[in-house]
This record gives sequence, C-alpha cells and structure tokens, in this order.
Amino acid sequence: MTASCTLCGKPVVPNTKAAHRSISFDVCDSCVSRVSGASGYAALLDAIDAPVLLMQGNPRQVVTANRMALELFGKKPEQVEAHRGGEVFDCVHSFTEAGCGKDANCEHCKIRIAIVDTFTSANSHQGVSTELSIKKADGTRTYALQVSTEKLGDLALVRIERYE
Ligand SMILES: [Zn+2]
Repeated sequence: MTASCTLCGKPVVPNTKAAHRSISFDVCDSCVSRVSGASGYAALLDAIDAPVLLMQGNPRQVVTANRMALELFGKKPEQVEAHRGGEVFDCVHSFTEAGCGKDANCEHCKIRIAIVDTFTSANSHQGVSTELSIKKADGTRTYALQVSTEKLGDLALVRIERYE
C-alpha cells in the first residue's frame, strides 16, 4: 500500500526513516527537508491530522502550532508562539515565578522529560501520558495529557493525543 504525500501528492515511500517519523509520516521526505520559515511550517503542521506544536530547543519554547492545536487550547497564534509548552497547556506550574520547566514541580514532568530527551537524543517518544493541574478562567482542574514527540531537523514536533 502506498500513501501519497499530503503536501505534494507524490507517493510516500515506506522506509526506515518513515518509521521514525511517526507524526509527520503523511508528508514525504523531500517536503520535510524543504520546510523552512513560518509559511512552510504552517503547511506541514496543517497537513498533520492532529493537534501539533512545533518546538525549538534553546530556549525551549513553541515556534508555532497548527490550527487543530489552537482550537484545542482555545488560543490565538500570538498566545502560543514564543511561549513555553506549559503556558500553552495552562499548566499551573507555568504561572509560578520560575515558570514552566523551571519550577521545582516540573522536575518530574513526563512531558518535559520526553521533549528534552527528543532534543538531546533525537529519539521519538510515543504516548507519553501524565496528569497536569490546568488553570482555566473558571478554576483549576486535573487534566489527562498525552503526547508523542518527534525530532524534525533542529526542531521537534509534539502531537497532543489527549487533553481533557
Ligand atoms: Zn511531498
């Protein structure tokens, strides 16, 4: 069975690299390598049929998010771009003085650990789940959050699989 690239329509040849690319697998290798700049990222992210954040490693923050992610979190692009992941999720620990990833409570955050490892080892992580206290306008509640991660060039994709 051959799938076609969501961006250019050419067949996506299954290979070992495609197995590593569990999130962007519907996009062919040449389109992935051609992606650069904000407009290219937007096309790539919106080709993925799930809420996705594109993160940079240093400082670790969101470069941009696709439309499905903005809808899921109820945010505008300027509320996620150049923000930390926890700020996008509205994690209570992102409202602290130290901030997301730096607060003492963040040390054991599985989401943080998976994303950091994807940047340092280039390994993908599948179905990393945890519970976070999420602060919304109507109060703080516990949310189940599940993500997968994948290195994409110098950046990383974070697919949101559960946020409820
Ligand atoms: Zn393509």
